[in-house]
Amino acid sequence: MSGFNLLHLITNAKPVTLKPCGLPSGTCRTKKTWPKSFSQEELKKRLSPIQFHVTQEKGTESAFRGEYTEYKEDGIYTCVVCGSPLFKSETKFDSGSGWPSFYDLVKEESVTVTDDFAYGMHRVETSCSQCGSHLGHLFDDGPRPTGKRYCINSASLGFQHGHSLLIQTGGLGPGRNVTNRTENSWRI
Ligand SMILES: [Zn+2]
Repeated sequence: MSGFNLLHLITNAKPVTLKPCGLPSGTCRTKKTWPKSFSQEELKKRLSPIQFHVTQEKGTESAFRGEYTEYKEDGIYTCVVCGSPLFKSETKFDSGSGWPSFYDLVKEESVTVTDDFAYGMHRVETSCSQCGSHLGHLFDDGPRPTGKRYCINSASLGFQHGHSLLIQTGGLGPGRNVTNRTENSWRI
């Protein structure tokens, strides 16, 4: 990957004001209404520094450094803070961006999206709908069938091997082929 690297800008991201995103009801929440909450003190003890920075301070891990960027095991990716299931391994694809990328969610309501206007650009931030932890961003340049690209920090994720009973599989089946993307224009 070459060219301009946004990471150096985003690593020191400060919290931005969240606002309703205007998407269908149930997908947007304000920061104060998460069903699960954890004290910052507890999270500082439980999480690694990068996990805390990404999830609680809207940080971004370095590209290609994350634990799950090249991870290919079968299972469920969960929120590292509250354990909620977020993504299935079947929907993970190699975006070449340097961050784990998924084209669909376990459940539509598992992730909350909000507008992010930091750094003079409009992006769509993704957060865990249960605890509000920052996950990454959502772009509309993903592969079929959804056309979405959830660009997620490994530091926001946990992993459960196998297909957990937490998940009601529906919709997308396993084993779909996804075209790899090699452009260097990825952003997170
Ligand atoms: Zn969570």
